[in-house]
Amino acid sequence: MWQDWVFAIGSVGFIVSLIPVFLTKSYPTSVTSIATSAILATFAWTQHSLNLDYAAATSAVLSFTWLMIAARRQVQDRRGLFFLMHIGRCNYCAKGLLQMGWCDRCGKPDTNI
Ligand SMILES: [Zn+2]
Repeated sequence: MWQDWVFAIGSVGFIVSLIPVFLTKSYPTSVTSIATSAILATFAWTQHSLNLDYAAATSAVLSFTWLMIAARRQVQDRRGLFFLMHIGRCNYCAKGLLQMGWCDRCGKPDTNI
């Protein structure tokens, strides 16, 4: 089916266009990446239900790529891989730990959500 190839080639194009994100290490916010990954996983499941198997496979890879971008951002922010628990070092005092969006030492908010 030609529609399968349009979706598949489009997704490969998106994957290639994301290479500079990894090379420049300018990752978008985690919320953006996680939301994009979840929507693309839904697209993959829907395309699979329509027997668009190449489209589904490439959408799944694209979804995983966005998950990797989210993971890289989490590591860059030193938050670890627990995406919605903002645990990491405070950007202001560099001594406190960020817990639920606030520094436990100086009390300033986590700015890199
Ligand atoms: Zn602090």
